[in-house]
Amino acid sequence: MIIKLHKNFTAENLHQIKAVLTLNQFEYTFVEPESCLVVPKLKSPNFLIGIDGIDGIVEIDTTFQLASKKYKQSSIFEVNGVEIGGNQTNVIAGPCSVEDEKQIFETAAFLHKNGLKFMRGGAYKPRTSPYAFRGLGLDGLKMMSQAAKENGLSVVTELMDLSLLDQVLAYSDIIQIGSRNMSNFYMLAELGKINKPILLKRGMSARINEWLLAADYILSGGNQQVILCERGLRSFDTDVRNQMDITAIPMIQSMSHLPVFADPSHGTGSAKFVKQLSLASIAAGVNGLMIEIHPNPSNALSDADQALTFSEFEQLLNEMRGLAKYFNRPIDSSISLYK
Ligand code: PEP
Ligand code: MN
Repeated sequence: MIIKLHKNFTAENLHQIKAVLTLNQFEYTFVEPESCLVVPKLKSPNFLIGIDGIDGIVEIDTTFQLASKKYKQSSIFEVNGVEIGGNQTNVIAGPCSVEDEKQIFETAAFLHKNGLKFMRGGAYKPRTSPYAFRGLGLDGLKMMSQAAKENGLSVVTELMDLSLLDQVLAYSDIIQIGSRNMSNFYMLAELGKINKPILLKRGMSARINEWLLAADYILSGGNQQVILCERGLRSFDTDVRNQMDITAIPMIQSMSHLPVFADPSHGTGSAKFVKQLSLASIAAGVNGLMIEIHPNPSNALSDADQALTFSEFEQLLNEMRGLAKYFNRPIDSSISLYK
C-alpha cells in the first residue's frame, strides 16, 4: 500500500503517521520527492482514518509498489527536450563500445544526419573474459560526450560500479544499468538519490516481478526517472545468444507506468534478426529502442556479430518510421513530419 500525503502536509503530520505505523508494527519507506510512504505489508488501513496529512491510500497487491500502474498511470519525463514515456518512440543507437575518436565522431554525425537524438556507447564494459576489450574508460566518456555535444545528441552509457558514478554523471544524460547489475541492489538504491534517468536493463534470467522490484529500489530512493529495457533472456537454446521476450513489452505496460524499451541487438545477438525484432517491438507498443550500430561491424571490439552497418540501420530506420507512424507513435527524429 502507498500512503499519499497532502501536498501541504506538515512535519507534525508526518511524525504522527510514522508513529502510528510503528505502533502497529508496520515498516515503511518515506519517499520525500513523491510525498508518500510505501507500506508493503499494510492490508487494512482503517487505523489511519482521520489522521491529518493523508490525501489517499492506494492499495497495491503486488510486491513491487512504486513501479505499479495502480500508483501512477504513466511516467513521462524529458531528456534535453525529448519526451520519454509519452506518445513517441525514442531511438537510441550507437556502438557497443566507444573505440576511438574516428568511430564515435562518425557515428554521432551519422545519427545527427538521420535526425536522431540519443547515442549509446560503452566506456566501461562488462566483459565475460577479463582478457577482452573492456572499454576506454574516462577517455571514452569524454570522447563520446564531445561527439554528442557537437551533434546535438544525448548520451546513454553504462555505469558498472558506484566508484565511477561521478564520471558517468558528468558525461552522460541517461545512465544504463546493465543486465549483470540489475540485481546490484546497493547500487540501485544509490541511483535512487540522483537526478538523472536510469535505463534499467532486465537481468538475463530475471522474472518480470524481480525486474519491477529492482525498479522499486531506484524509485523508493526518490529518483522517478526509470526506463525498463528488455534485452533478451538466456534460455536453453544454444542457437541464439539470447531470446528477446516481446511479451514483456505489453505485459509491463499493463503492470507498470514506467516506459519500456527494447534492445533487439542483445535481444538476439545477431545482426540479421535486429530488423524483425525492432519492428515487432514497435508493433508491440514499445516506448523506445536501443540498437547497436558500427561503421565497420566486422572490426568492432565488442559485440561485432550483432551490430548493424550504417546503411542497414538507415533502411531499418525508414521502416521503423513507417510503422511508428502507422501506430501513431512517431520516432523522436520525425515529430515534425507527422504534425
Ligand atoms: C550493452 O548494452 O552493451 C550491454 C552490455 O548490455 P547488457 O547489459 O544487456 O548485456
Ligand atoms: Mn553490447
